[in-house]
Amino acid sequence: MDTISTEKFYGGKVCKRKSKSNVHWVKIHRVMPSHIMGPTQFWKEFPKQADALAAAAKRSTKTDTLCTFVYQRPSDGNRKFVVAHPEVYWWYYKAKPQERRCSYEVIPKGSPCWLYLDLEYPIKLNPLCNGSRMTKTLIDIIRTYLLNHYHLLCDRNNILILDSTSSEKFSRHVIFTMKDMAFRDNSHIGRFIKTIYNDIMLYLNSDMQSHGILKQFSKADIEEMLVETATQGKRLFIDNGVYTKNRHFRVYLSTKWGKQSYLTISSDSTYTPLNKCKEKELGIFLDSLISYFPNKMNLILLEFQNRSNITAQLYSKILAPANHEDDNQVSPYPEIDKYIRSIIDPGKIRVSKYSEKTKILRYEIYGNRFCENIGRWHKSNNIYWIVDLNKKEIYQKCHDEDCSGFSSTPKSLPEEIIFMLDTEGDTLISDVMIEENII
Ligand SMILES: [Zn+2]
Repeated sequence: MDTISTEKFYGGKVCKRKSKSNVHWVKIHRVMPSHIMGPTQFWKEFPKQADALAAAAKRSTKTDTLCTFVYQRPSDGNRKFVVAHPEVYWWYYKAKPQERRCSYEVIPKGSPCWLYLDLEYPIKLNPLCNGSRMTKTLIDIIRTYLLNHYHLLCDRNNILILDSTSSEKFSRHVIFTMKDMAFRDNSHIGRFIKTIYNDIMLYLNSDMQSHGILKQFSKADIEEMLVETATQGKRLFIDNGVYTKNRHFRVYLSTKWGKQSYLTISSDSTYTPLNKCKEKELGIFLDSLISYFPNKMNLILLEFQNRSNITAQLYSKILAPANHEDDNQVSPYPEIDKYIRSIIDPGKIRVSKYSEKTKILRYEIYGNRFCENIGRWHKSNNIYWIVDLNKKEIYQKCHDEDCSGFSSTPKSLPEEIIFMLDTEGDTLISDVMIEENII
């Protein structure tokens, strides 16, 4: 384990002390207590971003995801890059006096991230704007696009709104936190948001009374999101420039260097933390990080190339293509397995079970929570598919309590599979399983 070097982080108020075992940099007042089950205490500072990002990637493990933070020294504004586990960073960060909290998360290029927005407008030029109402309209529009394009319902309570509005500038960060869901990287978010932005502008600049997805919103509400700017004339209050590679995004409770407007939870936020922590503030901090996912393997990644090229993939599928199916994931009917895989994409078969007695196949699915009962994805409960070999029919069921009695309308298995079942009978069963059945 590397030693913690927090001297510069604390502006020099650190003394060097020799401990019994080895030399540590120790803070005068306290050091984060370490637990066997706790996050790694790794902490390293870098003058260069590229070195920090490389170290964060290299030192992250399945259980410990390290992030790269930037902090600006209050004394001279110099930037330093810190690689640490977010919980460890928080522990030292929260102990700093407010005016020294001047930190950013680096959103590494190509990394999964939550949908985030940077909203702003100059207050003097827009004295009549109601930023809270504008935020709400925009969030509802984006939620409608998510539902329309990805069948995702993002609850308002899962949307974290941070505010650092000053007397001069309205300024907010909005973060859509969804369990096990993220965009593939921020370039996909950029394209998604720009598409929405362009739709809105086209609608406002036309005589159209309704425009596709936007038809459920009043034109007056949408128009309210237009603001006057000093250099770019009238535009929406969304900053489209925050989806660049290795973007720095200010963290919870931080201020821009030289200013004193801190990012805090906005008064109109109804946020319920996703990260349930004993320390509520830590939970909010972790949720507010755009690119921190402690369990990446279960992540479903949303992709957006353009309006007609929208996909979703499993993180584990992209990064571990050599991931072979284990025995639980294959049934005695490989052709049916293949068919199931095709209809649940981007999901995968977690477990398949076959009952010889009832001739029923059951496929537990992960990575695709689309339930026909509600016509969209469940937020956290999974679905399963049943294949009835007697009737040669297939239907979907669901683990959500509200869907307990639900079965989708059965549909027939594809002709080619029925043909094989009828003509070849048990020859469709793979050799391995026949052997097992004999035993
Ligand atoms: Zn359901």
